[in-house]
Amino acid sequence: MTDLIVRWEQSDGVAVITVANPPVNTITAAVRAGLFSAISQIREQAGVRAVLLLCEGSTFFSGADISEFAGPPKEAEYRDLFRQIEQLSIPVVMAMHGTVMGGGLELSLAGHYRVASVGTRFALPEVTLGVFPGAGGTQRMPRLIGAERTLEFILSARPVDTSTACQWGFLDEELSGDLKQGALQYVKALLSRGQGPRRTCDRRVDPTSVTPTAIERLKEQARRQYPNRHAALHAIEVVAQSATLDFEAGLIYETEQANVAKATDESRALVHVFFAERETRRVPGLPKDLIARPVGVAAVVGAGTMGGGIAICFANANIPVTLLDTSTTALDRGLAAITKTYDSMVKRGRITEIEKAARLALIKGTLDYADLSSADVIVEAVFESLELKQKIFETLDRIAKPGAVLATNTSTLDIAKISAATKRPSDVIGMHFFSPANVMPLLEVVRTDETSGSVIRTTLDLAKRLRKTPVLARVCYGFIGNRMMEGYAREAQRMVLEGASPRQVDSTLEDWGMAMGILAVFDMAGIDVGVTVHQANADRYPADPTYYQADMALYAAGRLGQKTGKGYYRYLPGDRTRHDDPEAITLLRAAAVRMAIQPLEHSVTEIVERCVYPLINEAFRILEEGIALRASDIDVVWALGYGFPRYRGGPLFYAESIGLKQVYEGVLKYRERFGAMHWTPAPLLEKLVKEGRSIAQWEQERAGGAKEAR
Ligand code: NAD
Repeated sequence: MTDLIVRWEQSDGVAVITVANPPVNTITAAVRAGLFSAISQIREQAGVRAVLLLCEGSTFFSGADISEFAGPPKEAEYRDLFRQIEQLSIPVVMAMHGTVMGGGLELSLAGHYRVASVGTRFALPEVTLGVFPGAGGTQRMPRLIGAERTLEFILSARPVDTSTACQWGFLDEELSGDLKQGALQYVKALLSRGQGPRRTCDRRVDPTSVTPTAIERLKEQARRQYPNRHAALHAIEVVAQSATLDFEAGLIYETEQANVAKATDESRALVHVFFAERETRRVPGLPKDLIARPVGVAAVVGAGTMGGGIAICFANANIPVTLLDTSTTALDRGLAAITKTYDSMVKRGRITEIEKAARLALIKGTLDYADLSSADVIVEAVFESLELKQKIFETLDRIAKPGAVLATNTSTLDIAKISAATKRPSDVIGMHFFSPANVMPLLEVVRTDETSGSVIRTTLDLAKRLRKTPVLARVCYGFIGNRMMEGYAREAQRMVLEGASPRQVDSTLEDWGMAMGILAVFDMAGIDVGVTVHQANADRYPADPTYYQADMALYAAGRLGQKTGKGYYRYLPGDRTRHDDPEAITLLRAAAVRMAIQPLEHSVTEIVERCVYPLINEAFRILEEGIALRASDIDVVWALGYGFPRYRGGPLFYAESIGLKQVYEGVLKYRERFGAMHWTPAPLLEKLVKEGRSIAQWEQERAGGAKEAR
């Protein structure tokens, strides 16, 4: 009766099945096997009058095992298991807690009654992985809450709480106090009332919940919410069938369609990013037993845009943080901006006034470096000047406690040169946050050749506490993300000089899936910001007199983007809506004429290819040079930090999905038209195409080679 993962015992006529599959009770093959076995034993057991199923640890079943998506279909096995649960002749009660998602929630629907601890959250987030509930959810949930509401739940992919679940009707009771005790009482009350099984499959779907008008409205919503994607529309088709097909036929239809969905590029890409995000903290070569240094107290130097956001990240993670700047004015401005951010979080219902006060209490301002001496980690975020940063690191070296991690948020500078200003370069690392630092989920962690393994481990672990996905990079200009941005931005700017309108470029990129067109991004960040970086690095850029000249033309005319109400677009005061501006187009055209750039026509395909191929090409260089650890890390950087569509899997996954040969030939095609200066295929791309190999094969060989060399 006992098994490590699934065990059951009889208590007073109730068979209590307990599952323990840490960390989050994923429904793995072993869990399913354990449940099959427990159910068949219970069926044979005399004297059992009811079944109670619960999970140990942080949560009830959190969902299906996503790593099984790539293997043979498992839907039939799920269907069979859930049928066996549902068809038991005694009442089956599901007692839930934690975060019950996807397959976990679907499993509960095969039970006859459902109770949950107050605070439990439920979600059907499958569309975020390019699929839909495929373990009976599309047929059972509509029988409990109606088809329309089921679809709203699936499309939102967001969790609901216990009171909503009760109100909707898929949860019978919220329990406070000890879950097992409460659930046992619930079971006993059922038995004393003589209540038997209450099978979801025996119900009918309320036909008024699947009207053609509702379906049309939901399809419209799905197209808006998930452009270029199919999973949500697919879910609508399958759920709608729950009203007409009988239950078993509905399940079969669901299985067929779920298998179609799993095989789409959309799903493969989304699952790729899901696993890629989990992989980033694994660093080959770092000893497994390497222990992260404890981080209890933090400090930030520079209370500007980034410093303030970084301080908020620490406070949100319950880590006290001291913020240093050079003047009371700068500090007060920084602290006021932090308070404003928290005020808006309260206003939007993200946190309560009490939480705001608690977090603000963790942030202290200072002008005195002595106040940073107890910090375990210090993040520098002052102006982008090597000299200034070196001066600050000299000071940090003097005052920081031994073992403190000394981090810089530089976007472009050579971190090895910054660390050389200290006598402890092995404690120095880059923590490249993205703006707004308290919102963006990505953190590029940049190591120099001297950064110690323990500092790398500490920073990667700290990132997790700060709720960031860290990606480890080596030092180069722009690290991973901004280095890839270079060619992307170059082509977008060049195309507007060739006569494409800013909206034509941006809308094409957005229709393709980028979160925001690149020219609109420049307007938001400030045209001057890009120009300053360009001027400071002019010596590294290719000798192309048209390079970044669209930005330059706008800058010279005082069009600095949203902050001046004009940039690539025009903006009304206090409004970020982009308006086409003929003045910008005239100005860009005049600049193009001065540079003898001929006007060209730009098809949708050309705009996408000219923007996306350069960033893919650069990704191959970054991979080959070892700036990134692995291809999937590069995908994570662009999916999380640059608005690259997750459903295309990131730049390298996308490149393989359309074929490396197509990318390679595209680069050659533009080399013919625009020359080799900007359009030379990366050696690794060329090599893989010529050898007909995949990135994964190359990575495997490289890993094998590295092992042999050791
Ligand atoms: P910012 O101008 O908003 O803030 C800089 C702050 O540093 C100011 O408050 C200034 O008073 C303070 N400062 C200047 N000299 C100082 C000194 N000697 N000691 C202490 N404080 C000093 O700049 P920002 O946009 O927050 O950028 C800061 C750093 O972050 C830069 O290295 C930048 O490249 C990097 N970064 C910026 C972004 C972004 O989008 N803004 C994104 C990633 C990284």
